[in-house]
Amino acid sequence: MINDLMKLLLMQEVDSRIDRASAEMDEIPREKLIHERELASQKADYEKEKRNLEEIRESSRKTTENKEASEKMLAEFKNKLLEMKTNEAYRAMLGQIGFAEKKIGDLDIQIIEKMYEEEQGEKDLEEAMKIWERNTKRAGKRQEILDGQFEVLKENMEELMTEREEIASGIGKRLLDKYEQLRAAGRGLVVVGLQKGACGGCLTNIPPQTAVEISQGETFICPICGRFVVWKDDSSMAGEK
Ligand SMILES: [Zn+2]
Repeated sequence: MINDLMKLLLMQEVDSRIDRASAEMDEIPREKLIHERELASQKADYEKEKRNLEEIRESSRKTTENKEASEKMLAEFKNKLLEMKTNEAYRAMLGQIGFAEKKIGDLDIQIIEKMYEEEQGEKDLEEAMKIWERNTKRAGKRQEILDGQFEVLKENMEELMTEREEIASGIGKRLLDKYEQLRAAGRGLVVVGLQKGACGGCLTNIPPQTAVEISQGETFICPICGRFVVWKDDSSMAGEK
C-alpha cells in the first residue's frame, strides 16, 4: 500500500509539471496575439499618416490650381483695363485687379504653408513606417523563438504524459480514480504530507493513532478537505519539529 501512495505522490509531481508546461504553452499564443495586435495598430498608424499626406497633397494641388486660375483672371482684367471707356468702369476694373492680386497673395501664403505641412507629413509617414517595419522584424524574430519554445514544451509534455501513464499503470484503479476525481475538483494538491500530526492541506489535527497508521503506510483521506494524507520525508507527528 505504501508503494501505491508513493506512486500517487510521484504522479502528483508529474501532474504539477504537466500543469506548468500546459500553462506555458497557453501563454505562447497569448503573447503572439499581443504582438499581432501591436503590429496591426502600427500598420493602422502608418496608413493614417499615408492618408493624411495624400490629403495634404490633394489640398496643395487644388490651391495651386486655384492660384493659376486667379492669375489667368488677373491677366484678363489687366487686358480689359485698357478697354474701359469711363473712369468709373476703369476704377471698378482696378478694384477687381486689386482683389485678384490680394487673392493670389493669400494663395501663395497657403501654398507655402502646405509645403511645410507636406514636409512634416512626409516625416511623420516615414517615422510611422520605420516603427512598423522595425517591430515587424522584431515580432518575426520573437515569433521564431516562441515557436521553438512551443516545440520544446510539446516534446516535454509528451515525455511527461508517457511518464504519467507509466506511473498510473502501477497504481490500483480505485485509488487512481479517487485521485483523478479530487484533482478534477481543482483544489490544488491532492496528496499532502502529515505535518505536525495534522493534514498538510487544511491543517486539521489528525488523531495520534491515525497518524501512526499513516506513518505505517495506511491510506487516509482527510475527512475535512478530502485530500490523501501520506507520510513524506518531511512529515512529523504532533509535538515534533
Ligand atoms: Zn485536510
